[in-house]
Amino acid sequence: MNNFLVSVIIPVFNEEKNIQPLLKRLLPIVKKYNYEIIFVNDGSSDNTVNEIKKYGQKNQKIKLLSFQRNFGHQMALTCGYQYAKGDCVISLDADLQDPPEIIPQMIKKWLAGAEIVYAKREKRDVDPFFKKMTAQFFYKLINFLSDVQIPTDVADFRLLDRKAVEFLNTLTEQSRFLRGLVAWPGFPADYVYFKREKRLAGETHYPFSKMFNFALEGIVSFSTKPLRLASYLGFISAVIGFLGIIYAIVGKIFLPSYWVTGWTAIFVGIMFMGGVQLITIGIIGEYISKIYKEVQKRPWYLIKEKYNID
Ligand code: UDP
Ligand code: MG
Repeated sequence: MNNFLVSVIIPVFNEEKNIQPLLKRLLPIVKKYNYEIIFVNDGSSDNTVNEIKKYGQKNQKIKLLSFQRNFGHQMALTCGYQYAKGDCVISLDADLQDPPEIIPQMIKKWLAGAEIVYAKREKRDVDPFFKKMTAQFFYKLINFLSDVQIPTDVADFRLLDRKAVEFLNTLTEQSRFLRGLVAWPGFPADYVYFKREKRLAGETHYPFSKMFNFALEGIVSFSTKPLRLASYLGFISAVIGFLGIIYAIVGKIFLPSYWVTGWTAIFVGIMFMGGVQLITIGIIGEYISKIYKEVQKRPWYLIKEKYNID
């Protein structure tokens, strides 16, 4: 018989309209197993908490952890992983973009020995063209820059074996780019394919600006190659600058009468150097801000309330 425990962790941020339809689809599926469902309320300001409690009253297996304020999707997942007791832990979005119907397939692959089972989207059909392109570019870039291969077309819908969860919980770093952290140790992984649906109710919490920051976070957390790139840039511009110096001196000596018209060269030189310097300072700044956050060692999140869980 199935005497293992399946934990489902669901970060929620203003998802009041999605709780009921989500549970309606999720419960019949997980009922075949020993299960717990842990909602992590990431500072919702709508009726999400009461919606969840309504179900929690009748069913002790539906649990809730509420953050003091909004700490972000990745922190909500981090918290879920810390409280989940399951032999395997499945993370799921609340907006039904991740179909719970494929959970049995994921569990099957886990029982067959995979320690991570990613839900991989077959096509990025529902996404607008722009999101598709930028996502593709991001994964190409991060996999080029980083030593860890992060699987493409995989979001935060995945199953982790207890072993992987325990490992994740030992990582003390502040920046929690979970897609990378999960891939880092190289646990044997498998895939289940699905077609991503449209968000059921409400709007995405990840507009372009937030996606951009998320991508930058991922790159800076998983690669120091941009720093190397900054050195290359500096080196190349120094070589060009040196050639410019020779050019200027030679011109000054051999073409003294003609040589006053140097404005363009000066302008181009200053603009080029200015650009290179700002870019490299920016890159260095990104890493300094990472160090700063690591040194501060603030807690990842603050819990305001626990319901059906301790
Ligand atoms: N979410 C969260 N905190 C946030 C933003 C989002 O817990 O600050 C949750 C949200 O409720 C949802 C999941 O994370 O369950 C994914 O968010 P969303 O659907 O907005 O992202 P998208 O699918 O558009 O990338
Ligand atoms: Mg979504």
